[in-house]
This record gives sequence, C-alpha cells and structure tokens, in this order.
Amino acid sequence: MSFARLREEVYRVNMEIVEAGLVVLTWGNASGLDRAAGVLAIKPSGVAYDKLRARDIVIVSLATGTVSDGELSPSSDTPTHAEIYRAFGGVGGIVHTHSTYATSWAQSGREIPCLGTTHADHFYGPVPCARRLSDEELRFYERETGRVIVETFRSLGLDPLDVPGILLPHHGPFAWGPSAAGALANAIALEQIAKMAALTYAINPEPEAIPRNLLDKHFKRKHGAGAYYGQPAAGH
Ligand SMILES: [Zn+2]
Repeated sequence: MSFARLREEVYRVNMEIVEAGLVVLTWGNASGLDRAAGVLAIKPSGVAYDKLRARDIVIVSLATGTVSDGELSPSSDTPTHAEIYRAFGGVGGIVHTHSTYATSWAQSGREIPCLGTTHADHFYGPVPCARRLSDEELRFYERETGRVIVETFRSLGLDPLDVPGILLPHHGPFAWGPSAAGALANAIALEQIAKMAALTYAINPEPEAIPRNLLDKHFKRKHGAGAYYGQPAAGH
C-alpha cells in the first residue's frame, strides 16, 4: 500500500505549524491517521523542519506502535498520539506544540475558561488541564501522557470532538481534529484563545465565563446536526 497522500498531508501540516508560529526549533509534531489501514503518519524524531521532506514522514502501526514504512525513527511522542487515536474514535489528526500562550496556561496548571465566542466557536467549554503523572507513570512517559489525556476526558464526561484539545501541566498543549488539517486549525485556534484569555485576565483578573446560551449558540451553529454556519456545499 502506498502512503504517499497521507505522508504529503502530514508533511504539510508539520510545515504549517512552524509557519503559523506555533513551533520553534523542533518543539512540536503533527500526525494523521488512516483508520482503515490501521496506521498513523508522524514526523520523524529530531529532524529539523527546514530539512524535513514528505518521504521522511514515518508510517506506524496503530495496533503495535512499530514502524510499518519509513527509514527514520518516529517522533518520541508517537505513543501519546497512538493512545489518543485508539481511544477517541472520530480523531484523524493530532498536533502537539509548545506554543507560547497555550504552554503558559499549561505551566500555570490552569484550564482555559471559555470567556467569549472565539473560544466557543472551536471548543465547547473550558480547555481542560490534565493531572500530573506519578513516578510510576513517568517510567512510561509518552504512553502514560496519552492515557492521562484519555482519562481526563472520560472523568469530565467530555466528547473529544466537542473539546478538541487539552493542556498538559508543566508541558504544553495537544490539539486534534477529524484530520491532520483539522487538528492544525484547532491548534491555531487554541493558541489564539489562550492569548486572548491571558490578555482578558490582565485587564480584568475576575472575568465572567461566557453565558451558557451564547456558548451553545456559537458552538452549535458550526458543529453538529443543526450547524448552519458557512456555505452549504462547503460542509462547515
Ligand atoms: Zn512536548
């Protein structure tokens, strides 16, 4: 089987997280999933973005975590991506960065409250912050990071497609979406709403959360059965 299209999409998204200003040096990685083929495609470990080529993208078995196709070693965060894909059925792409504002909230150990409609258009409520890992969990750091992401969503009763991202304390954000391109859009949105929330708190240390009716209106006009935002043919 050829993975050229999946590799090309994942390559493009990895380049776009740099162009969007979410990543400097090698502080990030993006992946995409072919659920029918049972493989994910991800950035190779430690390769500089200006040297990255589409054919360097590594194809990894979702079931076993081993390389199915590719010359290079996959990103060290691959087990985290795999845990998310295994648990969250509708997810087809994942972006991890250390983008400045989202990481600042993560380092503060704070969820990002939903303060306005920009946030509500993309995330149906606060962006959660996961718990810390135990000493035992840190022995299997990347895999357990994925598991604590899944645990957080289950314990909060959240649908990962309604809230397509999370903060890891003292670390940074993961965002996801139905495709790698969708995950990129949510990673960009997450950084922007993290920035707006930080500035809102700087102006008013006690802002009010968005009213429930306005949150519902904004999220649901773009997502789900009653969505009407955008052009009918565009499928927004
Ligand atoms: Zn990281």
